Amino acid sequence: MDERLISANIAKLLERVRLAAEKSQRPPGDIRVLAVSKNHPAQAIRAAHGCGLDQFGESYLQEALAKMDQLGDLPLTWHFIGPIQANKTRPIAEHFAWVHSVDRGKIARRLSEQRPQGLPPLQVCLQVNISGEQSKSGISLDELPRLAQEVIGLPRLQLRGLMTIPAPSTDPVQQKAAFARLRLALDRLRELAPAADTLSMGMSDDLEAAIAEGSTVVRIGSGIFGSRNR
Ligand SMILES: *Cc1c(COP(=O)(O)O)cnc(C)c1O
Repeated sequence: MDERLISANIAKLLERVRLAAEKSQRPPGDIRVLAVSKNHPAQAIRAAHGCGLDQFGESYLQEALAKMDQLGDLPLTWHFIGPIQANKTRPIAEHFAWVHSVDRGKIARRLSEQRPQGLPPLQVCLQVNISGEQSKSGISLDELPRLAQEVIGLPRLQLRGLMTIPAPSTDPVQQKAAFARLRLALDRLRELAPAADTLSMGMSDDLEAAIAEGSTVVRIGSGIFGSRNR
């Protein structure tokens, strides 16, 4: 792990975000960078925090808890972004501020029941399978209103918006088409949940398309920490 590399990557990333925002005539401050630190050590997170980042995303619970333990001295906000098994909801409800990957009522109900009273409500995005891929987690747009209604009724969750991981594409037109569908879905969701303000979309390879379509959170792994399997 090279701290100078992380610092240079973050500088490049923030410039990409700034340019993309400018191109869409959006204030750069409307787009938050979530640093996806899965498969990277606590030391890499510490380096990214030293460069000004404070929002971190993790996909694997045990790995995340170990790193939280090592980084307890830093004021970090943790986001869970991976698939959720029902028997893992309690530690997620206890240790994370945000969950981006809620896609079942059962998971939502457990997270709400298990969210400690002393903490603010868990901030939740519903994961949408926007490209309709068989293998991907996430609900379909058809199922979205029902799950949204259920989450809105849960006392310890706050519905903040939608998250998606579209089918990989190198074509900006296709990338934008998928992100535009999520943006329209958020517009409709706002009729049920006026406070839903979050579009968690865009990763290292497609953040420009996501920002053009209204992303408010880009989830960046390799663009900050380098390739995960190095
Ligand atoms: C790993 C991961 C990312 C980061 O992907 P990169 O291409 O490395 O930027 C973003 N979102 C989710 C849900 C992930 O699992």
